[in-house]
Amino acid sequence: MNILILGSGGREHALAWAIRQNPKCDRLIVAPGNAGIADVAECMTIDPNSRAAVLELAEANSIDLVVIGPEAPLAAGVGDALRSAGFLVFGPDKAAAQLEASKSFTKEICDASNAPTAAWARFTEAEPALAYLREQGAPIVVKADGLAAGKGVTVAETVTDAEAAVRDIFDGAFGDMSVVIEEFMDGEEASFFVLVDGEDCLPLGTAQDHKRAFEGDTGPNTGGMGAYSPAPVMTSDVEAQVMAQIVRPTIAEMARRGTPFQGVLFVGLMVKDGAARLVEYNVRFGDPECQALMMRLGGQALDLIHACAEGRLSEVSVNWADDHALSVVLATKGYPGDYAKGSVIGGLDRITENSFQMVFHAGTAEREGHLVANGGRVLAATGRGPTLAEAHRRAYELVDLIDWPDGFCRRDIGWRALD
Ligand code: ATP
Repeated sequence: MNILILGSGGREHALAWAIRQNPKCDRLIVAPGNAGIADVAECMTIDPNSRAAVLELAEANSIDLVVIGPEAPLAAGVGDALRSAGFLVFGPDKAAAQLEASKSFTKEICDASNAPTAAWARFTEAEPALAYLREQGAPIVVKADGLAAGKGVTVAETVTDAEAAVRDIFDGAFGDMSVVIEEFMDGEEASFFVLVDGEDCLPLGTAQDHKRAFEGDTGPNTGGMGAYSPAPVMTSDVEAQVMAQIVRPTIAEMARRGTPFQGVLFVGLMVKDGAARLVEYNVRFGDPECQALMMRLGGQALDLIHACAEGRLSEVSVNWADDHALSVVLATKGYPGDYAKGSVIGGLDRITENSFQMVFHAGTAEREGHLVANGGRVLAATGRGPTLAEAHRRAYELVDLIDWPDGFCRRDIGWRALD
């Protein structure tokens, strides 16, 4: 099979690493890829959000399966264009990608299927939004109603902070967006990944991310500083509740509307007292949760993704080992604020990568024979083992071998589960 993966992050490196291990993979192209992905696949520099460029690449290379990594190509309808041209695609059409691209769309789906989630209201003008806020009181959550790379959400401790967030959004901080205001939900967050082929679904696994930049869950929000899988808070009872009350009703409602969802549904949950409520859906794997999941799945990831794309999920199952994986993100100092590109990263030649220890690349590039940082989140040192403590030890052993004075990481990834 000739496979094309779209994207250039640690998530796509992990997908490529897992898919490559499957003997059914004859040729693997990642577009645009990065310096680490180049070790396991052919990288081709195109804009993954351009339908024309992706179609041309897929046609020129007789691609049998396209795996779309990030949300932007999905929201741009790259999946639709490929399917119309007859390609097999893993990832939803633009209409179903609204589950991530529009917060009010997801809330409407939840309301239609009676799924447990925060009470909410949507506003297109500032004054009624501010009046609603004052009536509800704090804490309260203010969201820009669209894709804002994780920056459009304010969990406000005070009404004053919430008012400022509403004004920011209506002043155009994220473009022309309306505002969703939500009840604050207390609890422990977890990520749950479910493969969906339009009709059938297959729970893939659970993980927990660390959104804040610094240890002790302090500092600004980031794209994610580390993750581990499985997440102990997602017990089998919670998983069953989420499938019955949230995931299956959503899949049925999407199909009923004539926009069935196909791909991986990333279910962001808040768990409290053994019950989960939906925080958000994403329509792709999380990064760095994907790195931990792929370490655990290995080559079978391709069989599962392929079955999902072909609508054969009812015929497959996940063959789990009794293992754990943990991924530590190394980022350039300054991230998620301003940071410099181009600092040299050493020490990777001291590392022997295998199915227990892998360094996935996110923002790296090759310059004059050196590996350099080329983004905010740069590497994901990932360990796998029979216990979470062993996965943690193996991941940090990798971190300590990396010589990168301009980078930083959190030393406490996994603290909730390890405590
Ligand atoms: P990201 O890309 O970071 O996931 P997003 O734009 O998709 O962000 P959400 O996931 O909806 O936004 O919210 C970001 C974070 O804000 C959540 O991970 C959660 O910690 C917090 N949050 C969102 N909604 C609520 C809520 N109703 N109650 C409590 N916390 C919330």
